[in-house]
Order: sequence, then C-alpha cells, then structure tokens
Amino acid sequence: MKIMFLGAPGAGKGTRAEKIAAALNIPQISTGEILRRAIKEQTPMGLKAQSYIESGALVPDDVVIEIVKERLAEADCANGYILDGFPRTIPQAEALEQFASLDCVIEVRVAKEIIVDRLSGRRYCPKCGHTTHIEWGEKVCAVCGGELIQRKDDAPESIRQRLAVYEEQTAPLIDFYHKKGILKVVSGMGKIEDGLKEIMQVLGC
Ligand code: AMP
Repeated sequence: MKIMFLGAPGAGKGTRAEKIAAALNIPQISTGEILRRAIKEQTPMGLKAQSYIESGALVPDDVVIEIVKERLAEADCANGYILDGFPRTIPQAEALEQFASLDCVIEVRVAKEIIVDRLSGRRYCPKCGHTTHIEWGEKVCAVCGGELIQRKDDAPESIRQRLAVYEEQTAPLIDFYHKKGILKVVSGMGKIEDGLKEIMQVLGC
C-alpha cells in the first residue's frame, strides 16, 4: 500500500507513520529524517538544507523531490511505502505524480492549541531518529539507547515559523487530495493506540 501522512508539525504524523510502517512491513520515508541525517553527516545536501530547517522554513522543492525520487526507486519500496512529511507543497505533490502514486492520504488532525506544547516537549534521538515526548518518561532512546535531545527547529521561534509555513504551503494539499478522493481524516488527539486502530480501520487493514 502506498500511503502519505499529512498534518501540521506536532500532529503526530511521524510517531504514527513509524508504527503503521512496522505493522504493514513497508518502509517509512521521512524527508525530515533524511535531511537531518544529511546535516549530521555534513553532506553537500545537508549543508544546503541546514539553514532552512533550523529556521523552520521549507527546503527548496527541487532538493526534496530528488531525495524522494531516488528513495522510491530502491527495492524495499516495491510493495508500498509511507511518505511522512512529503509532499509539503502543491508543486511537490504534482512532481510526485510524475514518478509515483498514492493509494491513500491520511490527514492527522489536532487542535492548534496543543501543538506548541507537543513540539516544545518533544525529544529526538539523533542516532536512530526515534521521537518521544518528555511526558512519556523516556530517559534515553527506547529504541537504541541513544541520548535524547531537543531538535533546533522545536525552539519557540522556529515552531511559530513552521506553523505559518504549514498553513500557507502545506494545508492546501488537504483540498488537493480531497478532490482526488483519496483523503482520510483521523484524530491525532487521543491515545496513540486508539489513533493507530483508527488508521488501520480507514486503511481497511
Ligand atoms: P519534519 O521532520 O517532517 O518535521 O521536517 C523537518 C524540516 O525538514 C521541515 O521543517 C523542513 O524544513 C524540512 N522538510 C522536511 N520535509 C520537507 C519537504 N517535503 N519539503 C520541504 N522541506 C521539508
């Protein structure tokens, strides 16, 4: 199955995408995570992306489109994939249609008021990419034992910028995919387990 997760920063896309990908045995492709790795390794792409990411802006379309095009050509994507954080603009969605398809777009919806709280309490493992929240009580990464840190773009100024960017450039994708008849809306508010059940139901799994 070819799935895309859509939603505001802090909606819980990544957490849900990670678990659904494991349940369906398909890869989770997070452009944010691929970019963070490139920054850590200081590759040319990472150096180009760094200032955009840290300020909460979007990385230019051509850079992320190329990343996804290359990634989807790999063998493990043959039976399906979950795109997490791509596309994020209408031009990215139009480009995707030229080289891949989607069966379903899941919009994870949350109330705006809780987003800032979620993002400012979020912690990230740079070693394996796992994400958690201070309220969940993990002292070190539950997946690999690595140190948990705060992402630079989870600082208050970047959060405000990312929310504005979402409204302006990414939210129009809701209508784009609704018109194509493949959009499903799920709640990102309740317990994770309930959220996962809801997603499996809308996917017909
Ligand atoms: P995420 O991990 O999905 O929250 O992404 C973190 C950051 O990576 C975003 O705020 C953007 O700066 C950048 N990024 C990730 N995916 C994309 C995309 N599809 N288009 C442009 N920038 C992206």
